[in-house]
Amino acid sequence: MLEVAIIGGGPAGLSAGLYATRGGLKDVIMFEKGMPGGQITTSSELENYPGVAEVKSGFDFMAPWQEQCFRFGLKHEMAEVIRIKKKLDFFVIVLSDGKEIEAKSVIVATGGSPKRSNVKGEDTYWGKGVSSCATCDGFFYKNKEVAVLGGGDTAIEESIYLAKICSKVTIIHRRNEFRAAPITVQRAKSLSNIEFLTPYGIEEICGDNSGVTGLKLKNLENNATKEINIAGIFMLIGYNVNNAVLMQEDGTSLCAMNEYGQAIVNLKMETNIPGLFVAGDLRQDAPKQVVCAASDGATAALGAIEFVEHHK
Ligand code: FAD
Ligand code: NAP
Repeated sequence: MLEVAIIGGGPAGLSAGLYATRGGLKDVIMFEKGMPGGQITTSSELENYPGVAEVKSGFDFMAPWQEQCFRFGLKHEMAEVIRIKKKLDFFVIVLSDGKEIEAKSVIVATGGSPKRSNVKGEDTYWGKGVSSCATCDGFFYKNKEVAVLGGGDTAIEESIYLAKICSKVTIIHRRNEFRAAPITVQRAKSLSNIEFLTPYGIEEICGDNSGVTGLKLKNLENNATKEINIAGIFMLIGYNVNNAVLMQEDGTSLCAMNEYGQAIVNLKMETNIPGLFVAGDLRQDAPKQVVCAASDGATAALGAIEFVEHHK
């Protein structure tokens, strides 16, 4: 039986692997369905990880993380986990090929992904002017004009954040009403460098070799078209959390989740199920940053070591 099973090999899973193995646990496997590294490997530039002054691609940034973990004995199994079940005082990890592995403790770090709009040009210019993270990429547009797609809390809050950095923010939303809290919308409306375009949709994200240059928009009430020049567009239309591994055959969740499907954890990354930890973007209130996911992973591993020690 494994001492700890780690599900997911992004910043949270790898950091958990490093701390669990370096902390003395011998039987630790990290199950990752693809190459380790997580979502950040799709980013062309990362410049906000403390202590790493050089701007790197997400792929290059994550490469040494695996190396470091494997040096301390973390084992990696390239496999998709379908479900985690609780049996008596241990867990069963069910893989997509039907194999079942037992573990005393589990750290779930399966992360998530921003929703895509599938508008023309989104894929072409993703990472070259199209972004889903204002905290990550806002600074690249200092004193430039940007747009935000979406009308939820994330879109409006991030627009307020961007308005402090960028010269102008145009919020494009498909309805005249907003999902975001009225007070947040009011706050955005009170800022002179935020413009609202509703009910508008994006017809096309336009650009050239340097990246995004503008948007072709359509008024969804009267079909009038409009073009705006912007250097960046933030697609803030929601986020999918990868919580499927926690769902049980009867439709219930293995641990408590909030209304957005994020796992509820305490400051030790403990769920309400003893021995089950959740770290990174899958947990409630995750700041969705590499440094935060890594910190969660380390915290969860320290908790898992303590749990395993007390349940020998
Ligand atoms: P993830 O990175 O999502 O890793 C989860 C891993 O679990 C994945 O590798 C996935 O394959 C695996 N997995 C999922 N389900 C299963 C399963 N069933 N079985 C096995 N494996 C599974 N953050 C910053 O700090 N700075 C930035 O500049 C920045 N830029 C970003 C740019 C982009 C384009 C994106 C998408 C994100 C960016 N982020 C940035 C956010 C950052 O990438 C995430 O906050 C961070 O990766 C979350 O780490 P995680 O380990 O929780 O999850
Ligand atoms: P969200 O509430 O689901 O809002 C997504 C927004 O994007 C909606 O306005 C939606 O339009 C729009 N949208 C979705 N798909 C689109 C598409 N294909 N094209 C164009 N527009 C599209 O997502 P969120 O803002 O990320 O928030 C997620 C949850 O977290 C929410 O419950 C939110 O309240 C919560 N949250 C809370 C806070 C806070 O309390 N401070 C902060 C952030 C998030 P429609 O409205 O027309 O559907």
